[in-house]
Amino acid sequence: MAKIEEYIPIVGQSVIDDLRLIAEKLKGKVIQHINSTSVGGGVAEILNRMVPLLRELEVDTRWDLIKGGEQFFEVTKKFHNALHGRPEEITQRDFDIFMEASQRNIEEVNIYGDIVFIHDPQPITLIKKKSNNKWIWRCHIDVSNPNERVFRFLMNFIIQYDAAVFSTPAFSRKLPIRQFLISPSIDPLSDKNKDLADDVINGVLQKYNITKKNKPIVTQISRFDRLKDPQGVIEVYKQVKKYTNCQLILAGGSAMDDPEGAKVLEEVRENAKQDKDIHILKLAQNDIEVNALQRASTVIIQKSLKEGFGLTVAEALWKAKPVVASNVGGIPLQIKHKYSGLLCHSIQGAAFALKQLLNSPAYAKKLGENGREHIRNNFLITRHIQDYLLLFLSLYHKEDVVYL
Ligand code: UDP
Repeated sequence: MAKIEEYIPIVGQSVIDDLRLIAEKLKGKVIQHINSTSVGGGVAEILNRMVPLLRELEVDTRWDLIKGGEQFFEVTKKFHNALHGRPEEITQRDFDIFMEASQRNIEEVNIYGDIVFIHDPQPITLIKKKSNNKWIWRCHIDVSNPNERVFRFLMNFIIQYDAAVFSTPAFSRKLPIRQFLISPSIDPLSDKNKDLADDVINGVLQKYNITKKNKPIVTQISRFDRLKDPQGVIEVYKQVKKYTNCQLILAGGSAMDDPEGAKVLEEVRENAKQDKDIHILKLAQNDIEVNALQRASTVIIQKSLKEGFGLTVAEALWKAKPVVASNVGGIPLQIKHKYSGLLCHSIQGAAFALKQLLNSPAYAKKLGENGREHIRNNFLITRHIQDYLLLFLSLYHKEDVVYL
């Protein structure tokens, strides 16, 4: 795990000095993060990096998980999709299953934090254990157009929190509690993002039987989830392939709290089986492999239909890769169209953008370089830690105006 000083060459001395100063003011407070999975997906990705760094700054930070069986995670995945605005039939039985499992967690999860930081809807009911400590609900989902029934249900709990955090202004809702807008981040020194030697990159390609064959590689790294639109990516690739020879990698693992993955993976495999230039990779949790695949790629695509923030976009841009990505969720915060990547709204649009990048390497390179600087200035973990520390402090200074 990187030490906090190692970030100085990347973000500058003053950023780290500021972090130490602010962290000092939180001495004696215990921060308790709670979510539903320790692996898979963006929330686990961030907490895995954030928790040790906060501890290094001597902010006593801990991380606990709730428990849930298959039925509970099926329901919470339905909630997740419905909150993203996807049509889902949610029954009273679903709410009952959610509440039954939640009740067990309420009984079993030990709450000891001065600040309890709850991520996403799965553990939201733990607020029932609120005493005189501070509670934050961190929403990583795009709730700009949610299924109202699910959102109203969650509102019963949200209003009991001291504050809510959303990733972008577009996601915020009218709420009777304080709201903060804090975008996620990536860790430039993690295995997922650090520089890699060419032989490591080539070793990973070899492991998956991928040869460069002078064919540019287009890659989407994502859980096999319909909202990531893997079938749409294949369609984009097919349209481009008529004009420009290339190969496609669709790579992803699963998340403990996402029961749909296996089915989607099977459908995608079926659709891709005729074409030897499409590589469908089921990854184990392995950050170096993700890093290597991103670095081996000519272009990264992220054709999500809905997205919270889209960490994979930040990861690709940090590697100075040209990216084609949907104009959804937090992606437009990261990609300024034609400056730090290309945004698209459809399969045709994505195919057009991808062709452009494959056929104009100098333009693609410039977009990638701009993208890297944009991530450096806005979406690295040091900025994220600073925002969280200021948020924690602000909970104890209600009257003050706090600029994040
Ligand atoms: N990821 C990974 N292995 C995979 C698929 C995804 O490590 O097989 C990582 C990916 O690199 C990123 C995170 O999981 O860091 C996904 O976050 P994102 O915000 O892109 O999407 P989410 O899965 O949270 O919807």
